[in-house]
Amino acid sequence: MSEVLTSRPIMSTLIPAAADRPGDDPIFALNGEAQRRAAAGESVVNATIGALMEDDGSLSILPSVFEVFGRVDPRSAAAYAPIAGDAPFLAAVVRDVFGEGRLAAEAVAVATAGGTGAVHHGVVNFLEPGQALATSDYYWGPYQTIAHHTGRRVEVFSTFTSSGAFDLDALERLLARQLEAQGRALVVLNFPCHNPTGYSLDEAEWRGLAEVLARHGARAPVTFLLDLAYARYAAAGADSWVRWIEPFAQSGTLLVAWSASKAFAQYGARVGALLAVSADSEERARIRNALAYSCRGTWSNCNHLGILAITHLLTDPELRARSDAERARLKALLDERVAAFNRDARRAGLRFPRYEGGFFVTVFTRDAKRTAAVARDSGVFVVPLEGAVRVALCSTPARDVPRLVEALRRGVEAAGS
Ligand code: PLP
Repeated sequence: MSEVLTSRPIMSTLIPAAADRPGDDPIFALNGEAQRRAAAGESVVNATIGALMEDDGSLSILPSVFEVFGRVDPRSAAAYAPIAGDAPFLAAVVRDVFGEGRLAAEAVAVATAGGTGAVHHGVVNFLEPGQALATSDYYWGPYQTIAHHTGRRVEVFSTFTSSGAFDLDALERLLARQLEAQGRALVVLNFPCHNPTGYSLDEAEWRGLAEVLARHGARAPVTFLLDLAYARYAAAGADSWVRWIEPFAQSGTLLVAWSASKAFAQYGARVGALLAVSADSEERARIRNALAYSCRGTWSNCNHLGILAITHLLTDPELRARSDAERARLKALLDERVAAFNRDARRAGLRFPRYEGGFFVTVFTRDAKRTAAVARDSGVFVVPLEGAVRVALCSTPARDVPRLVEALRRGVEAAGS
């Protein structure tokens, strides 16, 4: 009897839309192959991992963060966090992003499950089902997953002009088209240290972007979500965007996705926040309620231990100074790799965007799959994208950069570019 039952084909109970979701993430699959080959004794350069690693291959961490995790009052940490997050945490994050200026006074915030949760809340509250967010054609894959999963879409503009600058005209064309078609727009950009290209806007580009957003925001509902995931690894001065974007916040809504994942090397704690700036106090109250409702309707409350620990690290001067110093060591480690890559890749004639810091860079190629496959044959793992391969300097020691660049040079040559 049991044999009859088990041999019967099982009818899928998944709804059709969920029945053919892709399985293993391609980046995790490549990382898996790199690890298997390394475990079998091969010398491997694994430039697929999106986390900052020490030169010995172990995950970089900030010791002060773990010290504070151990100090948080157990009964506070074990209790539910408020649905929107603890007020001191939200105030600390607003201050971390905006300092004491006008934008800080006009911001509301909720705690989210990392920057991913912040992007999710932006998408479901500022776009109708069926509408598309606007982002650059090189973008972080989960934007598409979040949009698709929530019944929204992604539309892209070309990231770069032919001379390698940020293509502001292409963004403006898409923005105008979306406002015409949808009556609203949500522009999602990840700067500084864009994943995957490594690009950071310069001051003129920020000024131009803010001007375009403000111009369109004055005549239709425009929301700009800035994903700050890698901001702490940017070159000095990268926070000047706050000054340039301020005028836009007088007409449109500015959202900022903040995350402790990279800033505090705490990927697993899932501590993040979505900040929203609006000049109108009633609108701010509506936005805060909408975002808190989304918290309740997704994860309910965030990780309380993480929120309390990160609050201490942001607000206690001694702890803040210590975690800043520990992070400065990690940034120096990464900057050494960035400098080595810029030097060697330029010498090898590779084409890549301006790269001043951050976890990743892309190398342009005619056939990314072929380039990645050729590199893989010599034990160098990178992630193929459309028209480029993504190289994770965050997981590549400076001593491996010459080998990485040589494998890419051969891979790009084999791809016919
Ligand atoms: N945005 C970008 C561009 C990212 O690369 C990541 C992580 O890889 C995130 C947001 C969100 O990360 P988390 O949800 O861990 O904060």
